[in-house]
Amino acid sequence: MTTQPNNLDQWFHHYADRASGLAASEVRALFAVASRPEVVSLAGGMPYVSALPQDLITESIDRVMRDRGPAALQYGSGQGLPALREQILEVMALEGIRASVDDVVVTTGSQHALELVTKLFINPEDVVIAEGPSYVTAMVVFKSFQAEITHVEMDDFGLVPDSLRAHIASVRTAGKTIKFLYTVPTFSNPAGVTLSWQRRLEVLEICRENGILVLEDNPYGLLYFDGPPPHAMRSVEEDGVIYLGTFSKTLAPGFRVGWVLAPHAIREKLILANEAAILSPSSFTQSIISEYMSVADWKGQIDTFRGVYRERRDAMLDALDDYLPDLQWTVPNGGFYIWVTLPDNLDSKSMLPRAVKELVAYTPGTAFFADGNGRNNMRLSFCYPTPDFIREGIRRLSTVINGEIEL
Ligand code: PMP
Repeated sequence: MTTQPNNLDQWFHHYADRASGLAASEVRALFAVASRPEVVSLAGGMPYVSALPQDLITESIDRVMRDRGPAALQYGSGQGLPALREQILEVMALEGIRASVDDVVVTTGSQHALELVTKLFINPEDVVIAEGPSYVTAMVVFKSFQAEITHVEMDDFGLVPDSLRAHIASVRTAGKTIKFLYTVPTFSNPAGVTLSWQRRLEVLEICRENGILVLEDNPYGLLYFDGPPPHAMRSVEEDGVIYLGTFSKTLAPGFRVGWVLAPHAIREKLILANEAAILSPSSFTQSIISEYMSVADWKGQIDTFRGVYRERRDAMLDALDDYLPDLQWTVPNGGFYIWVTLPDNLDSKSMLPRAVKELVAYTPGTAFFADGNGRNNMRLSFCYPTPDFIREGIRRLSTVINGEIEL
């Protein structure tokens, strides 16, 4: 067995080519540092689960065990629990989606759904078009299936349709195959911006004309602050959109339950892929969510989350205004994130060790691009720290940024 110099992994030469796409992301490396209690972490995207009614969840678990314990502890359907799939239709109806319960496939969070869809559609070197910036861990999945990721431009109203058109043309001219457009159109991760309704229609039209699937990833749509966002893209286009939803942000990520709503023709393949990967999604956590939704005011709970996150967003915007008035940032109407643009000559990645020394963490912008862009950007999350900690975190960040500007 030969080993690589400087490589302690003796199995290095055994890995499949696709494993080379599995490089640790900047976000991942950060978690260890940012979880120290003295650090104000504006880096992760952890929902504030303490705002959940813990007693109701405990009661739901008890009732599941009492009333249908053996079924909840057993393997289940590869497509997901029928009762929960019906309730998922109610969740999606809030964003204008009408669908058949037969077309919903339950997954282990929407991260798993990203993996299944990518596995079904991507051959090595196929192109995935994504917003620039885009969700880091979706890109890790695309890369692990050896996709080529290309970014379309975004502004305050989401991805720019003309840029998408130009992009499709140039990728095609290069003789490459585009499989899908991956988009987080509502309260995007990381930019915090929302695709306008007019643009949603335009993007759907462009993708329809060009035979490109739209992979609409929508974990944050119900967490709006100043009024509801436009309806989901899936609400007006059934055949060309694969829609991903999750309970991670409106309930809790620890359940690991999300779903795919796919065009009818794709559904069968998805169920087979789901079974091949995990046999069935967790009967236990699906049963708990289903029970919780049938006894709790789950829409009221989403309202509570909106209030919590609205207050935190406002705290972050106020602190940015007060401490870093010369920078630019997005103003999200929902979700978890603000995207900050630093002066051109600053590099958020090389600045990070200084920030951690000042006990504040953020995610460098380059994590959200496949092409090295984003050097002078950072993603700030306002979902987890309390408003006071957010303010203190931005104050510490201003010391670091102002120090860099003066250097
Ligand atoms: N997509 C986006 C845009 C996300 O922000 C996240 C979570 N950070 C996910 C998917 C994965 O969520 P889940 O917990 O449902 O796997």
